[in-house]
Amino acid sequence: MSENTQEGFVDQQKVLNNEEYSIKNTQSIIQKAVDWFRARSMFVLAYGTGCGAIEMPPIFTSRYDIERLGVIGVATPRQADILIVSGYCSYKTLKRVIRSYEQMNEPKYLIGLGSCTINGGMYWDSYNTIKKLDEYLPVDMYVNGCMPRPEALIEGFVKLQDNIRNAKSEAGYIQYRENNAFYRANQEKIFGKNTIPTFEENFAGMNQ
Ligand code: SF4
Repeated sequence: MSENTQEGFVDQQKVLNNEEYSIKNTQSIIQKAVDWFRARSMFVLAYGTGCGAIEMPPIFTSRYDIERLGVIGVATPRQADILIVSGYCSYKTLKRVIRSYEQMNEPKYLIGLGSCTINGGMYWDSYNTIKKLDEYLPVDMYVNGCMPRPEALIEGFVKLQDNIRNAKSEAGYIQYRENNAFYRANQEKIFGKNTIPTFEENFAGMNQ
């Protein structure tokens, strides 16, 4: 059909108005691609807190081979996307966990591995461990069990990737930024004021 006819003009308008061709839709396609790549390139901080840390190394071995899902380990927080809190967390360790999490660049995600991160687990009445991890840091995915097998952790990664790809829930790092007063108040109940660097101090000199 000729573009110079009235019908041709109407056809062009239909294409321009069509959702499939709209700029808004193009942006959402780009965002979907970004989310897909993000979900398939997860850099996990090599860091363990409790006995669940023993179940982490096997997922990187040839038997489980989690690299096929785009998950690999890195040594430093500033290069990492994923922090796994792998079990019970003493007050002393929590301070380091918070610092590591805050030094990670966004977008970043936190996995709570094992019952101890959910309700304290067998350390529920301990005098020096935290009971609920999500009172101090935002948890994006819990993997329950004591201790969870490597298969359970892999399942947790698959579910987290699914959430990132489909934007199923608001990422924890956004909640942490927006509700920082809540997390900070709970952290200060343990550490008091001025005993850990502020959120802003941890990010000093980094592009947001
Ligand atoms: S959930 Fe069980 S295995 Fe994991 S840290 Fe707690 S006690 Fe250890």
